Amino acid sequence: MTERILIQGGRILDPAHGRDAVGDLLIEEGVVREIGPKLAIKGAVTRIDAAGKLVVPGLIDLHSHLREPGFEYKETVASGTAAAAAGGFTSICCMPNTNPVNDNQSVTEFILERAKAEGKVHVLPVGAITKGSKGEELAEIGELVSAGCVAISDDGRPVMNSELMRRAMEYAKIFDIPVIDHCEDLNLSAGGVMFEGEVSTALGLKGIPAASETVMVARDIALAELTGARVHLAHISCGGSVHLIREAKRRGIAVTAETCPHYFTLTDDRVRGFDANAKMKPPLATRRDLEEVRAGLADGTIDAIATDHAPHAAQEKECEIDHAPFGIIGLETAFALSLMLVEEGVLSLQDLIRKLTESPARIIGKKIGRLGVGDTADVTVIDPAAEWSVDVGSFKSKSKNSPFLGWKLKGRIAGIVVAGKWTPSAEAAGAGKEPGKTS
Ligand SMILES: [Zn+2]
Ligand SMILES: [Zn+2]
Repeated sequence: MTERILIQGGRILDPAHGRDAVGDLLIEEGVVREIGPKLAIKGAVTRIDAAGKLVVPGLIDLHSHLREPGFEYKETVASGTAAAAAGGFTSICCMPNTNPVNDNQSVTEFILERAKAEGKVHVLPVGAITKGSKGEELAEIGELVSAGCVAISDDGRPVMNSELMRRAMEYAKIFDIPVIDHCEDLNLSAGGVMFEGEVSTALGLKGIPAASETVMVARDIALAELTGARVHLAHISCGGSVHLIREAKRRGIAVTAETCPHYFTLTDDRVRGFDANAKMKPPLATRRDLEEVRAGLADGTIDAIATDHAPHAAQEKECEIDHAPFGIIGLETAFALSLMLVEEGVLSLQDLIRKLTESPARIIGKKIGRLGVGDTADVTVIDPAAEWSVDVGSFKSKSKNSPFLGWKLKGRIAGIVVAGKWTPSAEAAGAGKEPGKTS
């Protein structure tokens, strides 16, 4: 059942329409019906007091791992979408490295059915590029697209064969979807645990050179130029990649890129405590890389911020760092970490919201991430001043593998509207700020 919802007195910020003004927003039957400085609404309506809060298009994550089917002990569609909702995301793209891999229609349909039955937010599956993500034979890309996949990627097991990648791009172009690449040269990264540099030498851990990412970024740019396909580069982590993408964009090549909060917040110094929650792919790089990633965000080289939410069970991460799996959770901390970029003057608030809404929507070619009259009313309400502590108990995700445990962050999600329904964050509701219902 959809509700009639009036979000009152918030700062409505919608980069897609260039709107930034305090006002009211009326939602009826799941769409934005009216926006104005002060709306006089009669009849039954759920009123949300948004004074002092931001009212933005529902955030979109281009890169999550929901782990279902196959790894339900790490995460499920239900728990992962609950984490997304808590983090203010109303649409998330889920990567295909499940078991079985999402390389055919039946897996895509399974995920969409789970999302329909138990999902708290919209789930947009990403299909595999190759069968079983083995990098040997192309998946049935047309079948994946007609089943509902919005992109293709062999995230985690990148396609090393450049000729196969070329053909994948040619198919993706026919179906007008992006190819999302996890840029890693598996030969260069083999056996690596962290970023190759001073810190890895000091710790005696095998490093992954920055070139593992940059050679694949360069290859993908060359193939994007050759094929004319839309190529989206996932989780960009180092300065060399930012330079290559900036130059490619200058030359008009259809390449887009995302980074994740950990790459503009942490450096390889974080690995000094041998904490497995500081282990992910690509690895945390140097201070200089972090600055380059920030510069790439600031000048538009990096289009979007994604989470690469990669849940792993506690027992998997509680081992020597060499043996722990790569990846960290991110859906519930992404917004607050990103807001630090605004505090530090790297991005305007408008640009930050754009990188979490309009830009990811454009990359996957979906008419979401916008709040004009008539648009689907996926909305995120944020209290930008609220402070909170990241602790194990605060996560809705089944897994707790975050390098930000113990951090105090500013900016929390008050609630979301998705599919015409208002869901306050648990804490926001507990604070006695439940919306009043009038009739
Ligand atoms: Zn990846
Ligand atoms: Zn990933």
